[in-house]
Amino acid sequence: MDLSERQALLEEIAAQVRVCPRCRLCQTRTLAVPGEGPAGARVMFIGEGPGAAEDRQGRPFVGPAGQLLNQLLLQAGLRRPEVFITNVVKCRPPENREPHPDEIAACREYLDGQIATLQPRIICLLGRPATQTLLDPTLSMTRAHGRLFERDGLAFMPLYHPAAALHNPSMKAPLEHDFESLRQLLESRK
Ligand code: URA
Ligand code: SF4
Repeated sequence: MDLSERQALLEEIAAQVRVCPRCRLCQTRTLAVPGEGPAGARVMFIGEGPGAAEDRQGRPFVGPAGQLLNQLLLQAGLRRPEVFITNVVKCRPPENREPHPDEIAACREYLDGQIATLQPRIICLLGRPATQTLLDPTLSMTRAHGRLFERDGLAFMPLYHPAAALHNPSMKAPLEHDFESLRQLLESRK
């Protein structure tokens, strides 16, 4: 698939997401948040779901967790405009509750479409819902974070979610360590 074909497919998925009625989250969203990034992105990040700022702007990781993510990306040697960022559910769960399994399942086709289109070198899973959805529903973050998993020809690395450090300052160091592991992985795979 060449870049313009990828771009067109990603835009088509985004257009479907913006009007998607497939789960109850469509009733409470302001704007759906399809995700964003270049069609040629080598690195993809998958978060949990849009928060308040994301729901208002229709863009992923633009609130406080996004500010921290931007810093962590730089520490990993990445610039935000070069990575693709999305979430397991594209519409905000009310009161920032975790997405329900049926909502994740309803939204899965969009995520799978984005992955298949991008074919990224590495998929970073931010937090437990993304990790359990993409890898294994019994996997704990304590065990999985900062490790590389290869599945179906794709490489995954679970990382602690930036929001964890906003609620709990003692998570800042492990979070930075995870992004350092990512930096080393990217360096070794250049
Ligand atoms: N947290 C997430 O998981 N995703 C976002 O887009 C913003 C905050
Ligand atoms: Fe559709 Fe996903 Fe939004 Fe549910 S969360 S309405 S499945 S785009």
